[in-house]
Order: sequence, then C-alpha cells, then structure tokens
Amino acid sequence: MGKQILLVDSDLQFAKLVASVLEGRGHKIVQADSLKAAEAALNKPETPYDLMIVGSPMPQGDELHWILERRRSGMITKLVLVGESGKHIESLRTKITADHAVALSVHKPLIPYIFGAQIDRTIDDDRSEAAAQKMKDFETMFLALVTKYARVLPNRINELAEAIERAKNNPASTDLSAEVRGLAHKIKGTGGSLGFRRVSELMAYIEDAAATVHEKPKEEQLIIWAEVDRKLLEVKEAGDSECQEINEAVAASGLKPQQATHNPAMTRILVVDDDRGFLDIVSELGKQRLVEIVRASGLKEALEQAVVYPLDAALINVLPDHPEQCFGLARQLRELPGYENLPLAFVSGQALVKNMVEAAHAGASLYLDKPLASDALEKAVQHLVNIRQGGRPRILICDDDEFFCNTVALVLRNEGMIVRILNDPSKILDTMQEYPPELLLLDVMMPGVTGFEVCRMLRQIPRWQDLPIIFLTGQTGVEARLEAFRSGGDDYLPKPVVNEELLTRVKVRLDRSRMLKDRSDKDTTTGLLLRRAFSEQLGAILAEAQRLKTTFTICLLDVDHFKKVNDTYGHLAGDKVLAGLGQLLSRRFRVDDLRGRWGGEEFMLAFRRETKATMHLAVDRVLEEFRNMTFTGDKGEEFRNSFSGGIAEYPLDGDSVFELVKVADARLYLAKRRGRNRIVIDDEEAEAEEKTAQSSTADGAIQPSGR
Ligand code: GH3
Ligand code: MG
Ligand code: MG
Repeated sequence: MGKQILLVDSDLQFAKLVASVLEGRGHKIVQADSLKAAEAALNKPETPYDLMIVGSPMPQGDELHWILERRRSGMITKLVLVGESGKHIESLRTKITADHAVALSVHKPLIPYIFGAQIDRTIDDDRSEAAAQKMKDFETMFLALVTKYARVLPNRINELAEAIERAKNNPASTDLSAEVRGLAHKIKGTGGSLGFRRVSELMAYIEDAAATVHEKPKEEQLIIWAEVDRKLLEVKEAGDSECQEINEAVAASGLKPQQATHNPAMTRILVVDDDRGFLDIVSELGKQRLVEIVRASGLKEALEQAVVYPLDAALINVLPDHPEQCFGLARQLRELPGYENLPLAFVSGQALVKNMVEAAHAGASLYLDKPLASDALEKAVQHLVNIRQGGRPRILICDDDEFFCNTVALVLRNEGMIVRILNDPSKILDTMQEYPPELLLLDVMMPGVTGFEVCRMLRQIPRWQDLPIIFLTGQTGVEARLEAFRSGGDDYLPKPVVNEELLTRVKVRLDRSRMLKDRSDKDTTTGLLLRRAFSEQLGAILAEAQRLKTTFTICLLDVDHFKKVNDTYGHLAGDKVLAGLGQLLSRRFRVDDLRGRWGGEEFMLAFRRETKATMHLAVDRVLEEFRNMTFTGDKGEEFRNSFSGGIAEYPLDGDSVFELVKVADARLYLAKRRGRNRIVIDDEEAEAEEKTAQSSTADGAIQPSGR
C-alpha cells in the first residue's frame, strides 16, 4: 500500500529521480528543497508522514542538528539519510547517535530500483532474516546484471558509431539508417531499465533523428548527422561516467555481484527427518536440481523453519513409532498463513495402508517407501517443484534484445514468477505450445516481423484469444499506441521500462485474467471446478498418464436422496449441503487432485497415480466426515446426509475419459441400488454383494440429527 513520504533534498535533479522511483512503487511524495520547507511540511497536522528521506549536506544548515531538534520535540517519523558520497556518509555515520534514530543511511549514486526496494523494506520494517536475505540476494543479482551491462556498453556504443558512419556515407540507404535506429533503440531500452539514464536519453535523440533523416533534403541531412555525431560523443562520456558511478555504487554496496548466494526464485523445500544421513543425501540432490533444501531434524524445528523461510513444499519422514505426530505436523503446516496449499510428500519405512490413507487425508501428494529406489527421491523433488510451479504465473518475454529480456526476467522472477525468454519471434508458436504462458510481454521492433503482426496472428488462434499481451516498445507516439490496441494487445509499456510500472501492470493483468478464469471455471455454490473446466483438466491427466505409463482414478459422487432434502428442509438447505460437501472436498486430498461439480448434486474427483483401492479408502474417510456434518433446514431443524460413489481406474477400467466416466457412473448406480451411503469400485463384487444387500434395509438416507 502506498505511503506518505517527505523528501527533503536541495538537489532537484536527484529529488526528481527519487520521486519518480517511489511514486512508481505507489507512494505519495511531498518534496521540500530546504529544511525550512521541511519544517513547514511537518507542521501541517493533516499530513502524518510514514517516512522522511533527508539528503545531506543541505546548503542552508546542519541537517543532523535539525533532526535532533525535531526528535527532541517529539518527531517519530522513520528516517532515511542519503549522503553525497561514500566518504561523506562515512563521516556522517560517526556523528549519528541513537537519538537521531536513523533507520537507514545510504549514499549517492543510487541504483534506483534497489533504492526503491530498500525504502519499501524500511517502511514495512520486516526485519526477519528471510526478508533481509531475499533482499540481499536480489540486490546481488541485479547488480551482477548492471555490472555486466556496464562492461558491454562501450562495445554497443562502438557498434552504433560504426553504423552511423556507414549510414552517413550512404545517404540513400534507408536500411542503414534503420540499423542506426534499431541499435540506438536497444541501448535506450536496456540502458534506461538498468539505470543508465543519461545514455538512454541521448539514445532517444539518435533514434528519432535516424528515423526521419532520409526524408530530409541533402543539406539538412548533413546537419542532422553532425548533431548525431555530437550526441555520440556525449554518449561516450555519459556512458563512461555512468559506468563509473554504477561501479562505485556496486563497490560501496559491499556486495559481490558475481557470487549470488541463492536465487530468490529458487524453489525451497523443507525436509523433516531425524536421520542426518538422509538429510545430507537430500541436500546434495537439491544442489544438483537447483532446489534449496531447508533441513529440520524435529517437528518443532520444522515449524520454526516454516515460519522463517517461505517454503514451496515439504518432505516429511514418517517416524515408525509416532506416525500420527508427522501427520499432525502436516496439518499444522497447512494451517500456517500462506501454506493452505503447501505441497507435501511423506517418506516411510513401512508401506502401511493405514498410513498411506492418513497421508492422503493430510494432503500428501506423494508417499515414498524407504529404502528409496535410486531415482525416487529425485522424481519426488521434481514432482513437488512442478506442483508448486503450477501455482506460479508463467510469463513469456519475446524480445530480440537479450539484455533487456534478462533485466525484465530478473524483476519478474524476483516476484516468484516463472519466466521464459524468446529472442526469435519466428519460434513463438512452438514455444507457446511447449510452454503455455499466462501472459506475454511482446517487443514491437524485432528483426523480420513486428510485435503487432505477431499479436494479430495470435489473436486468430482460439487458444490465445484471451491471453493477456503487453507490448514493450520505445515508440511512444499516438499512432503506435493505437496500433498496439488495434492489433489486439491489452496494454502497452514504454521502454525504457520502469521496473515498478512493469510489475504493477503485469500483476494487474494477471490478477484480472485469473479472476475471469476462476469465474468461468468455478461453480459459485461449491467453489469447485465446473464440468467443462474439469473435463479439460481430466483430459490433461489422461494424456499425462498415457505418456508416463502411470495410472489415475476417478470417482463420481452423488448426494443421497437429495430431492427429499429439498422437499423436506427447503431448497436453501439443499444448497448448504452442496456448499458443505464442496468445501469438504476442496480441503481434503492433495493440492493436485481434481475436484469438480459434475452437475446438480453430482461431484467428480480425479486422483493422479492412484489405484482404486487407495482412492476408495480416501473417499470413504471423507464420506464418514460428511455423514457427521450437521445441516440446518429452513425451520431450524437439524439433519445429516450421505453420498454414494463409483470409482474407475485407468487403464484397468477403460482407456478414454468417456469409458472411465461410463464405468464410474454404472458403479455409482450400483452403489445406489445396494443401499446408498457407500463407494463401489468393482462390478463383480458389487453384483455379488447386491444379492445380500437385497435382504438388508440399511439405506444411507437423510436423517434428522441427534440420533
Ligand atoms: P438419489 O439418492 O437416488 O441420488 O436420489 P436424489 O433425490 O438425490 O436424486 P434425484 O436425481 O432424483 O434428485 C436430484 C435433485 O437435486 C433434483 C434437483 O431438484 C436437485 N438439485 C439439483 N441441483 C440443485 C441445486 O443446485 N440446489 C438444490 N437445492 N437442489 C438441486
Ligand atoms: Mg442424488
Ligand atoms: Mg443425481
């Protein structure tokens, strides 16, 4: 959420830069160019500030003294001090006392994006080790990218200079001036995004000049090229000084850009086991897979770790003597905020069906036997990573400038998104087939094809008609903007990209498209997938099982005597039953199990890699829970209910979705005939039992509760 920030600095150029960075992050900035102006701003009672940034030295006075005075008269606003240089801030730090209460002191030159992130961290005051580490890792990686660019920038400028020479010598060639324009355009975008502002501004001039030069009369062309040459000299100077500034900032930050300790976008898995040897094996495997392993040797430690580190998944060893404690831990983990859908796997020395069912009930995605087969652990880790990544947004960036892509990717990955880069637009369809993105960032000027053309083509393919597409372009004219929307784009981001703006726009688009998808895919009463969306995903499960030669099971559920519920207790009470069962089904089972409302009072479940015996046990437990739920009728009367189900397994009972649903439906019908309130998994068995059931009167009927 945006905060009120008072910015006190007499360096207007700097103040403008800082204000634009912080406003981009959603904060409101009030500027004061002197201590007197700051005094006046603070005295206005209607503006309590969440933070004050003070530049030093201020020309008219001793700001440290002023701060102390203000503190003594009761000012409690958080304070950030920005010194003129590294040396200057060093000497200030010797004078700062606890009474000044300075929350953060930094010095110029600042790297805008990092400064913005530091300010946010200071305001939110998240002092946890994990948050600090995350920030540090991000800074490290961002700086690595910036330093790398600073090294190649002189070469890029030389390439541009050569292109300019060629264009000057062949005034008739529009190709050559277009080359100049393209090169300048790239440096403008990437350099600007990485904090080379002056270079970027000069590039904008050269780009514009090259765009129109060939339309001009001969004499004017000479003047234009002479001006371009002058700008080029300025670029070289600006490049040198900005590179130096950045190198200084990097040196002053004390970070070593090349040695990132870990990637913030890396998946983090908690492994709980009292066996150190096992933990070592998993940690080693994690290194190979680029997965960070967080170790815990006991249950309490596991919970502590989960609070400190943002986890992506957990792998828990089932203690032979206390299996219930381990399942309890799983439930406790899932109760922590943000961990409702934490993917879980259990490892156990005993393949007891009882434990397996308990694990499935606690939400385990996997149950591994010890001793582990050679690649079982590796597969399990990969599987947990995949589930987790299913929840993260997948972004595709299509832009021919590698550096620009890397910058944008870093910013997005830092927010936990999965990013794929494509430099060659001609491969976009194949890439999207293999990596279906949730959002596309599309460059406009690319070799051979424009982004507008790519966008038009995508919009003709039904699958990509709703894909959010954001253009990234240096062309900011009205015509280009109109063309962006005409070609079917959703949004438009000018290059150089301001990272904060990029993030905001991407997030807004993602939220919106996810919301719309949820709205069209999910049933409002039960919160489960609607039949169409369920069928689509079931098709994907079938394809996966065929490819991996594994199994999966489906279960069709139908609430018993539901018509009677409506008739006896009212339609509203009937809806409550459906909502209750929907909620129960969505809370139980694994993250990647499918749950849908098939229609009316029918539900469908699909479990990957399960046999019908296990599914039977897991669904049976839910049936027991459902039977114990109490509902209230229109007149306040309480009642209970039950359901029946039919299960079918792939490929045992059929090798198409149609076949499997048919079998499950037939078994559901058998379950009803056999007296309801049960799950049927086998035709023969059902028929055999049917004979005995005929004499029995037990029928899962709606019952007034309390009996
Ligand atoms: P059985 O045990 O054999 O399944 O009997 P049943 O009464 O449950 O089955 P039947 O198919 O005869 O009746 C289903 C009823 O469910 C009919 C329909 O009015 C009701 N129904 C369908 N959708 C909804 C809904 O969204 N809300 C409510 N309250 N009732 C619904
Ligand atoms: Mg029914
Ligand atoms: Mg029915």
